[in-house]
Amino acid sequence: MADGASRKDRRGFLSDALRTSSVIALAGAGGFLAGRRTEGEPLVWQLDPDKCIGCGNCATYCVLDVSAVKCVNCFDMCGFCDICTGYFEMSYLALDTAAENQLCPTGAIVRKFIEEKSGQRFYEYTIDLPLCIGCGKCVKGCALMNGSLYLQVEHDRCLNCNECAIATACPTQAFHRIPASQAEILKRRAEAVLGARGRRLLREAGDDEAKRRKGDELLSRALRNRRWRQQQQPTASAEGTSPDA
Ligand code: SF4
Ligand code: SF4
Ligand code: SF4
Repeated sequence: MADGASRKDRRGFLSDALRTSSVIALAGAGGFLAGRRTEGEPLVWQLDPDKCIGCGNCATYCVLDVSAVKCVNCFDMCGFCDICTGYFEMSYLALDTAAENQLCPTGAIVRKFIEEKSGQRFYEYTIDLPLCIGCGKCVKGCALMNGSLYLQVEHDRCLNCNECAIATACPTQAFHRIPASQAEILKRRAEAVLGARGRRLLREAGDDEAKRRKGDELLSRALRNRRWRQQQQPTASAEGTSPDA
């Protein structure tokens, strides 16, 4: 989740950060050979949000009554839009948050006012995970703007089935088996903005240990994701037939 200190300058930072994907220069990447993973580490199912088209199968094919796939919001990509295309029905422009004007069929997206600046209002959008059924409607809506909403398998709920029923049904082969310690697959743009913020926090940290830890955490997530994507490249042509490990 976003930390309060960075929230205020996020909208200004966002445009810069999106242009600086190259900042993930991977100073330490040489030490992580593509394709290498810890021997014997358990694998879990996860979906690649860059491949997901929000087809709806994540909501209907999971063996659980309520899907283990949930929406997440990458706040570093979010524009905190007043008229959020992931929250409102597109036909609706009067900002009445009545249930019938919301895109989410279960009311799982929570909208909270953050601030008014230069005559514009900004809102934070969070997901009430138990309510989310993984339908992907908000993901498709948000894709019209910044694309900060995307789907991920929630491992606290997922049964880690031997053959994930959604993976089999997914039209874009978005599902993968990834090391349990990795847990997530970040969008490429999320990888870029988290990496950029992590580096910035580390530059600014000085004696601030909390800031340094946050910077480390963000940069680690970005680098881990980058390594995983590098691992996929040699086998990309074979991904259409079976989830990779
Ligand atoms: S089945 Fe695949 S394309 Fe459809 S919503 Fe799930 S991950 Fe996205
Ligand atoms: S994925 Fe569907 S249920 Fe979940 S928050 Fe988005 S619109 Fe609501
Ligand atoms: S592994 Fe099983 S429980 Fe987990 S998302 Fe796939 S079908 Fe659902």
